[in-house]
Amino acid sequence: MRAFVLLSPGEYAVQEVAAPVAGPGEVVVDVERVGVCGTDVEFFTGAMAYLHHGHSAYPMRLGHEWAGRVAAVGDGVAPGWLGRRVMGDTMLGCGSCRRCLRGHQHVCEKRQEVGVRGNRPGALAEQLAVPASSLHALPDSVDAVLGALVEPGGNALRAAQAAAPSPGDRVLVLGPGTIGLLAAMFLRADGAEVHLMGNTDSSLAFARELGFEHVWAEDSLPDLPFDAVVDTSNAAHLPDRALELVEPAGRVVYIGLAGEPSRIDTRTLALKDVTAVGILSASPGLDAAIRAYAAGSVDPRPLVAATVSLDEAGPVLAGDRPPHAGPGPKIQVDPRPC
Ligand SMILES: [Zn+2]
Ligand SMILES: [Zn+2]
Repeated sequence: MRAFVLLSPGEYAVQEVAAPVAGPGEVVVDVERVGVCGTDVEFFTGAMAYLHHGHSAYPMRLGHEWAGRVAAVGDGVAPGWLGRRVMGDTMLGCGSCRRCLRGHQHVCEKRQEVGVRGNRPGALAEQLAVPASSLHALPDSVDAVLGALVEPGGNALRAAQAAAPSPGDRVLVLGPGTIGLLAAMFLRADGAEVHLMGNTDSSLAFARELGFEHVWAEDSLPDLPFDAVVDTSNAAHLPDRALELVEPAGRVVYIGLAGEPSRIDTRTLALKDVTAVGILSASPGLDAAIRAYAAGSVDPRPLVAATVSLDEAGPVLAGDRPPHAGPGPKIQVDPRPC
């Protein structure tokens, strides 16, 4: 089968590789859609922290936001999975440590992450092998385009839940990228008055296209009480700004990661009686994201700007917008042979 292989920063090839085999407890999936995300770009540039902490190494097979159909099942896997349309959890905990046993497999110290960590091949390929225990079945109303948006959606949904708005609460989302826009959509579905802050005219214009009317550049942000602030940005100064902006007794949610330490003053946190929440992974939010997409309460489809082939994935990771790309922040790859 063909797979996209990242050989070193900026150096890649689409190679003919051995097709995966479903080991005990595993399935092999025919991949139909893969989202390209900021994490993939960080591996492409070499900036990703896991490379420097020894959790990941080149050559790498990227791709952790995916949807497809089960093509083979290994020993011990219920045969009912065969032919099912699925997406999968990126996080693969060891299953036996204290954290895994307490239901926190997404922060297992020994975890693999599909296409990210622990040498676990990702979905930028015609086929992918994953544990059956990581699968989430997709209803018919969640097609492959939406299915590959479940992983970022689960992250964004958890960020929105952590903001915990009551209907009518005013919530500010920092950073109108994929996670920020998805979080804004989940917050809007929950009845919040959503504000978005970004730093490019095009991203702000796109947020307006999605129906968000309270859209601001950093220097034009109105002086309003924000009951919660969700930082989805990669700007090192914004976690502290979020804490300044939030109302006393409010909530700040940290899901964005900067390339350098982004410090906050815990005296402010205590003096304002603010609750701060960090979000790493989609795992506990995947089922709820699937339900929201299936019900149509959140429709992330406009976020997809273009769909490209496996051969066009490299330039996308290098930052090129495909010709005729729409205004959305997400590029998807369809790795199936033409
Ligand atoms: Zn991602
Ligand atoms: Zn574990």
